[in-house]
Amino acid sequence: MTLSDAPLREPLATEITTVLIDLAALTKRAAWTAYAQLDAVSNDMLQRVLALCKARRGAVLLSEDHASPRTHEEDAQSAPIHIKALRTLALYNIQEEEAYALLQAFPATNTLVQSPDLTSWIAYRLALNDVAIGGAGDTDGTGNAPGIPIGASTHAEQGQHALLVLGWVNESNDTCASLVARCQTLLPLVADPIGAVIAGIVLRERVHDLERTAVRESLQGMELLKSELLGTVSHELRSPLTSVKGYAATLLRHERRLGREERHQFLLAINEASDRLETIIERLLEVSQLETGQVTIDRAPVDLARLVGEAIETIEERVEAAFPGRFMFSLRLKQADGTPADAVPLILANPRRLREVLDNLLKNAVNYSPEGGSINVTLRPVVQMQPGAKGAPSRHNGEETTGMYVPRDMLELCVSDSGQGIPVEHLSRIFDRFHRVDTRLTRETSGLGLGLTICKRIVELHDGSIWAENRPHGEGSAFYVQLPLDQPLEM
Ligand code: ADP
Repeated sequence: MTLSDAPLREPLATEITTVLIDLAALTKRAAWTAYAQLDAVSNDMLQRVLALCKARRGAVLLSEDHASPRTHEEDAQSAPIHIKALRTLALYNIQEEEAYALLQAFPATNTLVQSPDLTSWIAYRLALNDVAIGGAGDTDGTGNAPGIPIGASTHAEQGQHALLVLGWVNESNDTCASLVARCQTLLPLVADPIGAVIAGIVLRERVHDLERTAVRESLQGMELLKSELLGTVSHELRSPLTSVKGYAATLLRHERRLGREERHQFLLAINEASDRLETIIERLLEVSQLETGQVTIDRAPVDLARLVGEAIETIEERVEAAFPGRFMFSLRLKQADGTPADAVPLILANPRRLREVLDNLLKNAVNYSPEGGSINVTLRPVVQMQPGAKGAPSRHNGEETTGMYVPRDMLELCVSDSGQGIPVEHLSRIFDRFHRVDTRLTRETSGLGLGLTICKRIVELHDGSIWAENRPHGEGSAFYVQLPLDQPLEM
């Protein structure tokens, strides 16, 4: 029977139980405590161990074995460990350097070191890689505690140890020997819980580091966004502003020499550039209002087919004037099974905001189809499977349903074109603020990259979804919008 297998006498068993309960509480504290309070947790842990071992000095250190080869003559049991100090978790009545210096002198197993001034030390190693937290303690029979898995173990962490250094001052040799025996009995019994506290501390530190990195990255992201915003906005503002300034300066300087028609042309150009400036500023304001939740949606029953018809009519006139015969527009209504329909169900929505979405999608279809071609809008009822909100019912076929995924009746709008399509890696990003796919065409087409952001926010305000796909065989792109059909129409 080894010492640690021996049945404990009653007072000692109670003492151990108390320490185990304390250590369990410390493990919890390590996981939840504020980062700045972690030192207090490791100091409390050291105090528990010191009291248990009746030691007057001590340290808890995190260290790593150096992979230094042993010579044949060196006995694995007595060869000195080449310890690389990683950090100190807690110290009591001992200097950090002194603790590390002592460790360099320790052989591989738990050993008593007797120094000339009758100060005795014991060092206890806890391998931090193989112990299951809450496991049975000494599983390998060496008296060493098994290790603790600390999160994802990286290569650098291999061979990491927690080292307990405990010391007694001015004790007689006999007393020292009995204290060491006590330690050798008790430490394996509390090794796992000690490891769990250390694991908790290390994990908490990792969480703190990750949080700090996330905050830093999001701040960097915001900085990037700000400079992107300034870059895009000032670039977009500059060209109409230059026009306004240029024409106005020419008018002022050469007013008398310019004919009536020339003056009129200059004023038209100034007017057009001012309109562009106004649009840019309105878009910026709109995005900011949509993003800061300042926009509420007044809903009314909307015939989306009619709304699409009106939007097509408006853009058709404008496009036909600019590019005669180059674009063909069509509207198709379908039933849920894909067969043609005469009408689609009404939805409860804000017609002005939905018209804005339609205008943006149709304008983009024209802008990004340089060769012209056909632009089709299709409307059809569909069933969308949505994650069910806890307990919240959804309406399908007029009936309420609940579950993990619940079917929801939606009206789907699809605007497809035969243009250049969208590179796959940009498909989701085009809905981000100021995101434009950098092509010759986009460089030639003035735009802020805000149209789709506005569409997305408006659709989301209607509790719907929007996404883009490429049509097969490079035949252009398709934008899908799904809006709920399950709201009662009577208002
Ligand atoms: P803008 O048109 O002002 O650039 P949008 O937010 O409306 O801003 O569009 C963002 C980007 O998405 C466009 O710059 C373009 O690269 C891409 N895009 C939008 N619609 C289409 C389309 N129908 N076909 C190809 N690319 C498109």
